[in-house]
Amino acid sequence: MKVLKFGGTSVGSPENMRAVMELIADGEQKLVVLSAMSGTTNALVEISNYLHKKNKDTACVHIGSLEAKYKKVINDLFTSDESKKKGVQIIKSSFETIRSFTSGIFNEVGENTILAQGELISTQLFTEFMHENGHDAKLLPALDFMLIDEDKSADLPQIRKKIQPVIEAAGDATYFITQGFICVNANGDIDNLQRGGSDYTASLIGAAIDSEEIQIWTDIDGFHNNDPRFVENTRKIDQLSFTEAAELAYFGAKILHPQTVLPARVQNIPVRLKNTMNPSDSRTLITEESDGTEIKAVAAKDCIDTTKTRSGRMLMAYGFLKNVFGVFEKYKTPIDMITTSEVAISLTIDNTKYLKEILEEIEVFGNVQVDSEMTIVCIVGDIISEEKGFASKVFNALDGIPIRMISYGGSRFNISVLVPTTHKKVTLQAISDKVLNSNS
Ligand code: ADP
Ligand code: ASP
Ligand code: MG
Repeated sequence: MKVLKFGGTSVGSPENMRAVMELIADGEQKLVVLSAMSGTTNALVEISNYLHKKNKDTACVHIGSLEAKYKKVINDLFTSDESKKKGVQIIKSSFETIRSFTSGIFNEVGENTILAQGELISTQLFTEFMHENGHDAKLLPALDFMLIDEDKSADLPQIRKKIQPVIEAAGDATYFITQGFICVNANGDIDNLQRGGSDYTASLIGAAIDSEEIQIWTDIDGFHNNDPRFVENTRKIDQLSFTEAAELAYFGAKILHPQTVLPARVQNIPVRLKNTMNPSDSRTLITEESDGTEIKAVAAKDCIDTTKTRSGRMLMAYGFLKNVFGVFEKYKTPIDMITTSEVAISLTIDNTKYLKEILEEIEVFGNVQVDSEMTIVCIVGDIISEEKGFASKVFNALDGIPIRMISYGGSRFNISVLVPTTHKKVTLQAISDKVLNSNS
């Protein structure tokens, strides 16, 4: 069975929901993962932020306007009184849940419960819409099988175990619908797979049910060789390897949640990216194979902090790197880029939750300097098989851009540079013009 995931824009209006219905309703059994309607999760994050700040009145104003938006959706989506009534009930129940957090203590569980309402609403409305139009659809509650462990990592063996009976209990329906993004954590509380997590849900489900293909349907015609939000003249890529796609997603290509590729790669399930607005357009296909030679694409990851630690002891002291890495390990903080010299090490992190504690501990080993608001720009492809002189082409393209760190040679698949975020756009454009789109 194929798994198809539709993102926020794809289900962002009654017209788009109709387009999704027409696209999936071909009689072939499939499992469909839906995001929240576009704008909803952002609105729910905003509401939660007001509640954290104890600004209940403003939170209530935002809750009211989101609810009004959904009342209009129900009116436009459904034709029959019966379905409209069901739609009203769905909205009423979710907004009652959201409002229940406007009094009393507001904590992480409250926030995660609020954030989950977007996907809970979109899937219930869509399932009812399918029924109204005579399609045999069943809703599979993601909270019955989508689990994460103490480290907030997806628990694939448990997901595999739990999803099977849920599908069996749903009978022989043709279309199974479920929520992206939401899950249950090790405490049994509602949680999520982080922003953009519906892609990851689809890949996890695909791996859990040994799907033949995972399709990510979005608002653009596949993976482009640069970020179309910042750069002109980006081009669609037809074929990516799992490794290339994983690197690009991890280093900021928003079209895929950073972890999406991993479960698919483990089970060797092809991932296909498709455009909901233009379904006949051919795709980007992600499989084990790379098509070889070229420099594929570039992506950028923001909100990077870098620490440079100069060893307090003299040259050639050993154990210094181990000590510094040990601190990051202790705080479970992943490191992305590393460069070293004889007496210093620079590292980048994007999770700054424990930065203060980390700094306090590494200051014992030397003098530490921190730079924030940095961006990693990552160029991905089969770099080694590229013509000689590729590195000089990249560095010539970056002439005049203040580069803080360079990582080259760590793998044959990427070159990364760290630049101030203020220089991100010009860096991406320069790589497009002088590397990706240049014939020389
Ligand atoms: P969805 O809501 O369907 O999950 P997203 O907004 O998360 O959609 O992802 C699709 C968007 O990702 C595109 O509209 C595009 O602006 C952005 N994007 C960033 N980098 C790339 C890239 N390399 N290729 C294609 N799209 C990209
Ligand atoms: N609705 C969630 C978000 O906006 C998850 C997703 O769309 O993938 O982040
Ligand atoms: Mg997305």
